[in-house]
Amino acid sequence: MTNKLQVMKFGGTSVGNGECIARAAEILAASAREGGVVAVVSAMSGVTNRLIDAARKSEQGDANAGNELADTLRQQHFQAIELLVHDDDARGRLAQQTEQIIEEVRGLCRGTSLLRELTPRTLDSISSVGERLSARLLAGALSELGLKAEAVEATELIVTDGTHGHAEPLMLATRERASSRLRPLLNEGAIPVVTGFIGATATGTLTTLGRGGSDYSATILGAALDATEVIIWTDVDGVLTADPRLVPEARTLREISYNEAAELAYFGAKVLHPKTLRPVAEARIPVWIRNSFAPERVGTKITELGHPTARGVKAITAISEVTLITVGGRGIVGLPGVAAKTFTAAANANANVLLISQSSSGNDICFIINSADAAGTVEKLRQAFAQDLAHQQVEHITVNPDICIVAVVGDRMKGLPGIAGRTFSALGRRNINIIAIAQGSSEYNVSLVVEAGMLGEAVQWLHREFGLERRASRFESVETAESVAS
Ligand code: ADP
Ligand code: ASP
Ligand code: MG
Repeated sequence: MTNKLQVMKFGGTSVGNGECIARAAEILAASAREGGVVAVVSAMSGVTNRLIDAARKSEQGDANAGNELADTLRQQHFQAIELLVHDDDARGRLAQQTEQIIEEVRGLCRGTSLLRELTPRTLDSISSVGERLSARLLAGALSELGLKAEAVEATELIVTDGTHGHAEPLMLATRERASSRLRPLLNEGAIPVVTGFIGATATGTLTTLGRGGSDYSATILGAALDATEVIIWTDVDGVLTADPRLVPEARTLREISYNEAAELAYFGAKVLHPKTLRPVAEARIPVWIRNSFAPERVGTKITELGHPTARGVKAITAISEVTLITVGGRGIVGLPGVAAKTFTAAANANANVLLISQSSSGNDICFIINSADAAGTVEKLRQAFAQDLAHQQVEHITVNPDICIVAVVGDRMKGLPGIAGRTFSALGRRNINIIAIAQGSSEYNVSLVVEAGMLGEAVQWLHREFGLERRASRFESVETAESVAS
C-alpha cells in the first residue's frame, strides 16, 4: 500500500439511486486497492430541494409538509437499501438509522409549522438530512462489497464560522479534527464516507456551506488531509467549453488552471461550486472532474498552470436569475462616496455583488446581484440615498431583473488583443444587445450583460466565434484513460 490518498466526491446524480450508489462503491473499491480513499457524498438527487421546499411549506403553517417529505424520503432511500444491502443484520441496522433520521426531519418540520418560524439554524438542520442519509447508504454498499467503511458526519470534521446557509471553514481547526478522526480509520484500511455540504461551528452547531457545497467539502478535506488528489465524480465528462445543456457540441477540456476553473465556477459553470478551488490551489493539490457514469474517461484535470492554448479563450459561461441595479443621475458626477455608499448598502443586504460597471462620466453605477437579494438591496439603497434622492443629486435607483451575465473565460486572454472586440462584434452581428460590460483586471474573463431571453443564443454564438467546438489540440479531445496512458 502506498501513501497515496484520494478524496472522492460523488454528486447527487452519481448517488441518485441504488444502481448509481453501487457504481460509486465500485469506483471507491478500485481506488482502495491503490491507497487510502475518503469518500464525500452529496444527497441523492432532488433530495435537498425537497427538504428545503418542505421547510418553507412548514414555515407557512402546512402541518402535513413534514409527513409528505418523510414518505418520499422513505420511498427513495428504502428502495436503494433493498437493492444494495442483502445481509439481514446490516440491512436492519441501516434501515433503523435511516428511519431515525427521517423521523428527526419530520419532527423539525412539525415544530416549524407549529411555530410558523424557520430560523437559518433550523433550515440548515433540515437541509443537511439528505447527506446524512446518503452517507450511510454508500457506507452500507461498500460493506456489502466486503470493504471496511464508516459513515462520518462532517460536523465532526469541518469546523466553520456561524454563517448559516453559507458557512466558511476554519482551516486550522478543520485540519486538526479531520486528521484525528479520519487518520485512524485510514490506517486500519477503512473508507470513511463523509457527508458533503455540512460542517459545524467550534461549539457543535450544524452549518451548511451553500447549495452545491459538497464540492467545497471535498477540497476542504483534501487540503486538511494533504491528499494526493481530489476527484469530483459527476454526470458529465469533465469541465466543458460550455454548459452542454445550452451547447450540445461543447467539448471536454483536458486540463485547466485553478484560476480558470475558479472563474468558470464563479461565472455560472454549475459543475463546480464557486469556492471549490480555494482550499487546494495553494497546496497545488490536483482536482479532477470525472464522469461516474463513464469512469473509463479521463475527465478534466485542474492544476496550477493548466494547459495553455494559443487561442486564449477556453470556455463560455452564463449566470441567470440575476438583477441589474443602477444608481444614476447627473448629480452623481463628483459626488464623493457614491460608490462606497452603494456597495455598503449591498453588503448590508447580504448581497454578493457579481459584476460592477461604471461609465467614465460617472453618471451611473450599475451592479449585478442574485435576484433573490434584489428587494432587500433596493430597500437599503433607498435608505442610504434618501437625502440625495430628495435633493435630486441621485435621480434614480432602477432595477432590471430581465438580464443575465455571459462570460468569456481563459487564462491566456491577458495580452491577447481583440478578444473583447470579437466578443462584442460577434453579438452585434446577431443583433444581441449588450447592456453592460466588465473586464476583471486579472483578464481571466470578459463578462457582459445581455437580456435574459438571449442567454442561450449569446453563449452559442460566442462558443462558435471562438471555435470552441473544434478540437484545440490532441489534448483537448475526450480521451480514455487507456489512450492517455499510451
Ligand atoms: P453534481 O450533482 O454531480 O454536483 P451538478 O448538477 O452540480 O452535479 O453539476 C453538473 C452539471 O453542471 C452538468 O450536468 C452540466 O449540465 C452543468 N454544467 C454547466 N456548465 C458546465 C460546464 N462548463 N462544464 C460541465 N458541466 C457544466
Ligand atoms: N445536496 C446539496 C445541494 O443540493 C449539496 C451538493 O449537492 O453539493 O445543494
Ligand atoms: Mg454540484
